[in-house]
Amino acid sequence: MGVLGLGRMGTALARALLGAGHDVSVWNRSPLKAGPLLDRGARLAATPAEVASADVVVSCLSTYDSQQPVLEAASPKVLVNLTSGTPEEARRVAKWAASQGIDYVDGVIMAVPQSIGTPAARILYGGSETAFAAQREVLSVLGEPVFLGEDAGLAALYDLALLGIMWSTMGGYLHALALVGTEGVQPEQFTPMATAWLSAVGGFLPGIGEQVASGDYATDVSALDINAAGLGLLVEASRAQGINPAVPAVLRELFDRAVAAGHGSHAIASVIEEIR
Ligand code: NAP
Repeated sequence: MGVLGLGRMGTALARALLGAGHDVSVWNRSPLKAGPLLDRGARLAATPAEVASADVVVSCLSTYDSQQPVLEAASPKVLVNLTSGTPEEARRVAKWAASQGIDYVDGVIMAVPQSIGTPAARILYGGSETAFAAQREVLSVLGEPVFLGEDAGLAALYDLALLGIMWSTMGGYLHALALVGTEGVQPEQFTPMATAWLSAVGGFLPGIGEQVASGDYATDVSALDINAAGLGLLVEASRAQGINPAVPAVLRELFDRAVAAGHGSHAIASVIEEIR
């Protein structure tokens, strides 16, 4: 196995591979970072091309732009690209790999470095199903491998969609902490209520998803207009308490536009029409 890139994530990937008994050669722009891995039996390659003699090369650099010259210098037989990027970037590398006769699998890591190699890590893949199937066993060492389809851009698409949920949730949570904080409420008092609320909110998602799939937005639970009004209250209260209302203000604008488009009596799922 070869690993290109020994940042926080690349180091965790190499460590997991070494822990599973694989021969691992590693390359990093700053070779000093390889030290702890060499102690565990890794071989340090002087150039990306040296790593490419491994059967499979895993690449994990900060961006596609920084990665491309490294990939071109390496030109491996089988490439598993775990650098985060956009679907278009992933498809471009897939096209380049095909032009070089490289079997290409594009992946995204839905985990932090500390959970690599444990059951808590999940890695999503797209691209060549044959190459994925051939490497499935070794990829299982890094985390649960999930194959999404032959489009090399799919993993990046899922990644950004899932991260979007994470960032929106964190933004909402930070807004909430700032709001209750205006009255001296400390995070440790508020957070247990927030986590319980979040699991209740998570329970709404399958129903919203079904409505989006069917396009039937009828509701006898909670209509969009009262939710839009609630967002208005949140924006107003945030201003009155002296904090920045930017997080709920974005959603308020979107919900108001959906109401103006005639979805006021429909379910919240109807907001997707405005997003689309
Ligand atoms: P990091 O710790 O900042 O490491 C970045 C790596 O990219 C280092 O090996 C760095 O080399 C290399 N690099 C940057 N610019 C380069 C260039 N111009 N030429 C050659 N090498 C270059 O980042 P990371 O956390 O390991 O993240 C790596 C990838 O994993 C990213 O795409 C990230 O989105 C993804 N990811 C990370 C996490 C996470 O929690 N960390 C989670 C999921 C996905 P030097 O050591 O020489 O600087």
